[in-house]
Amino acid sequence: MSELSKIEWTEATWNPVRGCTKISPGCKHCYAETFAERFRGVKGHPYERGFDLRTVPNKLAEPLRWRTPKMIFVNSMSDLFHEGVPEEYIVAVARVMVAANWHTYQILTKRAGRMRELLNATLEFAARQPHIWWGVSVEDQKYGLSRVDDLRAAAASVRFLSIEPLLEDLGRLNLNGMHWVIVGGESGPGARPMKKEWVVSIRDQCRASKVPFFFKQWGGVHKAQTGRRLEGKTYDGFPRRVEHPVMPPERCLRAASEIESFFEPNDFLGLSALA
Ligand code: SF4
Repeated sequence: MSELSKIEWTEATWNPVRGCTKISPGCKHCYAETFAERFRGVKGHPYERGFDLRTVPNKLAEPLRWRTPKMIFVNSMSDLFHEGVPEEYIVAVARVMVAANWHTYQILTKRAGRMRELLNATLEFAARQPHIWWGVSVEDQKYGLSRVDDLRAAAASVRFLSIEPLLEDLGRLNLNGMHWVIVGGESGPGARPMKKEWVVSIRDQCRASKVPFFFKQWGGVHKAQTGRRLEGKTYDGFPRRVEHPVMPPERCLRAASEIESFFEPNDFLGLSALA
């Protein structure tokens, strides 16, 4: 969406894919859908086609042009592993992340099975890079816990859980192989409530397993009022970030045009069939 982000656990967002379709209860109040649908039909707006799924090849090379190292949330407005995104396009996104390695990338999906399969095969070259963090969303036991197992079975160097919106007590979590846990309550109109004991249980399990814990927000209808303190404390845990030198500008430009020459500048998917 933009070079700067208000999301508490990242610094910037990069959306080489836009739009998505709902898959589980965590999607009910999808902020990305609400935002995108506001602009449906607005000529020339990036979300002129609302929340319809589409690739955006002219955004592919963006991180190669950002010269200051950033923590980048990849596809804040979509799901990279959506079944409608072609594998060769996902590989191209991964190539950019590997090339522009002075940034740290955070990829978050609810399509954990596809992510596992690809990380263990075509995306192996990106899976082992410590500057690329692979994560799954977990909202409840029924849909969320199997995603954690898929993530654990993926050959990723850094794995994380985004437990947001937390909709119920998750019980005993298997945190083996996890490097970061984010927890947050739902916010906005109609927000579903989150109980303190559910959050405390996850925090305590992270503490026992020595997994960094980040408490994003209580949420609710007015999230500014409920804040992000838990038992009087702010939790801002992160995995360790690796540092790589920034590529010289001429190499960046070359890499960017190589990537861009691979795809048509306009959407290369006619995805109306998926809408
Ligand atoms: S998977 Fe994510 S982006 Fe897609 S509809 Fe659900 S919440 Fe929205």
